[in-house]
Amino acid sequence: MNIDLKKLTIATAAAHLKAGDFTAVELTQAYLDLVAAKNREVNAYLEVFTDAITQARAADAVIKDGRQGPLTGIPCAIKDNILIQGRLASAASRMLQNYRAAYDATVIAKLKEAGVVFLGRTNMDEFAMGGSTENSAFGLTKNPHDLSRVAGGSSGGSAAAVAMDGALFALGTDTGGSIRQPASFCGVVGLKPTYGAVSRYGAIAMGSSLDQIGPLAKTVADAELVFKAIRGRDAFDSTTIDENTYNEPYAEHRTSKTAGRKPRVIGVPRHFLKDGVDAAVLGSFEAALASFERKGYEIQEIALPNISAALMVYYIIMPAEVSSNMARYDGVKYGLHIDGKDGIDDYFETRGAGFGREVIRRILLGTYVLSSGYYDAYYNRANAVRKMITDEFHKAFESVDVIATPTAPGPAFKIGEKTTDPVAMYLEDIFTVTANITGMPAISLPCGTVVREGAGLPIGLQLTAGHGHEQRLFDIGRDFLNEE
Ligand code: GLN
Repeated sequence: MNIDLKKLTIATAAAHLKAGDFTAVELTQAYLDLVAAKNREVNAYLEVFTDAITQARAADAVIKDGRQGPLTGIPCAIKDNILIQGRLASAASRMLQNYRAAYDATVIAKLKEAGVVFLGRTNMDEFAMGGSTENSAFGLTKNPHDLSRVAGGSSGGSAAAVAMDGALFALGTDTGGSIRQPASFCGVVGLKPTYGAVSRYGAIAMGSSLDQIGPLAKTVADAELVFKAIRGRDAFDSTTIDENTYNEPYAEHRTSKTAGRKPRVIGVPRHFLKDGVDAAVLGSFEAALASFERKGYEIQEIALPNISAALMVYYIIMPAEVSSNMARYDGVKYGLHIDGKDGIDDYFETRGAGFGREVIRRILLGTYVLSSGYYDAYYNRANAVRKMITDEFHKAFESVDVIATPTAPGPAFKIGEKTTDPVAMYLEDIFTVTANITGMPAISLPCGTVVREGAGLPIGLQLTAGHGHEQRLFDIGRDFLNEE
């Protein structure tokens, strides 16, 4: 049978499965056919699993029994830094090229329980360090909307897989924007949950105080379904929170002006949108605000005085944590091992051959900011500013429900355009890192396109909410995209 993958969402696919319009095996086969046709060009998947049909058969048995849940038989893609027991998990690094996961990440255990079909593992920047997927050791991922451009990163493979209709949803990880920025470049929805909302157990760590796993999907409703399936307290990650942790009654968060009303006030830090933002991005941002106003929202200008320091804070704290997390790749415990003259030489040889340039750059930066003479000047000071920025966001959320900015300063850039200039690449993260620094949830929503050289390039709108208020992002996001 012919299944129109373009039109499917998780909810509609689940309804068709339930009604018997097609089986999970047929649905999975349709995705496998599409991936076979498109992946050579796009390189969204590093590996397509040969047992996908077997998984789908198991889902069909569950559906036949009437024990179907909202994700039973739904084909999805998993970023290559999330462990699935027995399968390769390389983090797109030569260091882990042949590493097989010894256990399931908590999110994977939950998705298995929910009966999804894992189609394969997706490409990414090596160890999630980058914003274009050009840092993968296994070739870059191209943007399905324009093959001369990047898909964004570091979850570029996950975003491209969903955008090319090569999966109904994907998981990514987001340390400084790695779910939201590729979602923005590829025209899909991407959610970075509240820090602690989703267990990081079994995600290959980058910056442990910043990392979160989250969904990329075609609609807000789909992202919400996946988020609700993967969140929750987990004994294996002590930073996880119960889903009700932040769910104080809505009115208590509000000023008297808006207490008890539906979330309707959108804060905009205009002072932060002046420099370096593409005119087309600003244009679509203003159009989004106008559409919110037409829907009865109030737009309120807010001040976040130290927000311009967020990128600097991120590029101190993140490499500090990276340098510590990367220390475990010693050529003994996991992955690559290269014999040198002696034990210490094994270590140098292995790390020199196993890590790419960007990973090495960040290890150097991280060990520098943590070194005894500079610890106070960089690392401690960055942590103090991190606290100030978080306090400023808390204050802003006393009078607004969500904060809106563009997701990225521009649409997808050309392949190779920023690879020789790390700072230009880091500037891509200017709007996304704040949610990681503050631990707050943020979503990227498709917000129109700009035509460049004949191709329509998606632009993203980012909404950030206070801790634990994902629901506000979903409600407002659905309203914005006119989803039912
Ligand atoms: N682009 C950012 C960086 O290079 C974000 C990475 C991420 O979120 N994993 O650090």
